[in-house]
Amino acid sequence: MIIDCHGHYTTAPKDLLAFRERQVAAFKANETLPDPGTVVIGDDVLRESVQAQLRLQRERGTDVTIFSPRASGMGHHIGDARVSADWSRLCNDLIARVCALYPENFIGVCQLPQTPGVPPTNSIAELTRCVKELGFVGCNLNPDPSGGHWTDPPLTDRWWYPFYEALVELDVPAMVHVSASCNPNFHATGSHYLAADTTAFMQFLTSDLFKDFPTLRFVIPHGGGAVPYHWGRYRGIAQDLKRPPLGELLLKNVFFDTCVYHFPGIDLLTKVIPADNILFASEMIGAVRGVDPETGHYFDDTKRYVDAVKNLGDEDRYKIFEGNARRVYRLDRVPALAQ
Ligand SMILES: [Zn+2]
Repeated sequence: MIIDCHGHYTTAPKDLLAFRERQVAAFKANETLPDPGTVVIGDDVLRESVQAQLRLQRERGTDVTIFSPRASGMGHHIGDARVSADWSRLCNDLIARVCALYPENFIGVCQLPQTPGVPPTNSIAELTRCVKELGFVGCNLNPDPSGGHWTDPPLTDRWWYPFYEALVELDVPAMVHVSASCNPNFHATGSHYLAADTTAFMQFLTSDLFKDFPTLRFVIPHGGGAVPYHWGRYRGIAQDLKRPPLGELLLKNVFFDTCVYHFPGIDLLTKVIPADNILFASEMIGAVRGVDPETGHYFDDTKRYVDAVKNLGDEDRYKIFEGNARRVYRLDRVPALAQ
């Protein structure tokens, strides 16, 4: 089985986006916020909306996608805690319905109702609802709800600890995932995403977070940002800071996905990062949608790159495509994936 641990609902029905527009407009005009309960989207519309993902799963030979709301659409910097709560709940409920329609193809991961300056404890109720009531297996945690201004404390600050206690209690991981950038210095998918991935790793490296939470698990997407490419730098910094070796310090808790859109990047990732810490992912349909003229294949058809890696034994290949996702997301509790 091939599990893609990183897919977003980028093809959500237009009625969802129309609600968001009404919601943002009402907030800005200081008017009564629209009721998310008024959004009515039929099952046929939902089925139609994921046909492209289902076709790509078939064509590319992947089986199931761990599926979450559109990342750039989370927009935590917009509105206030109430706006974020209504929006997250609506987006998560749609993910749950897609997963219920196609339980063999999609497993849910939730968006959190984060807001800059609002303590992450505020997201615990929605996380708990999604895991316990909707059967979700994790969340996307935004390390920078301000959208590019980094106004909240680092991920290793005690500010986040009550939320981590909930993750540990529910035994689900968080993917570190920013949303849109509202700082014109940072292009969303080209720099904000990768900078956030790299920043989160560096925060983990300089802290004792995983001493405090030995079973807490983070997936750093987009191949870990700049981290694998600069692994020597991070090992050296850790050594200079008298920190333990990286394997001991954080590789029981930090994992990287394969959303790297060329073969040399995946080749390097698999050479530098232990196979136990790599989870297959494509982020389709997402950040980069075109065909690579050098190969004739879609940039985000990442399975091809993993398939092409030489010197990857069957056991390591299994870990990357299936075993690690099962372990990190505890997928045996998902009925369609129970072994
Ligand atoms: Zn993503």
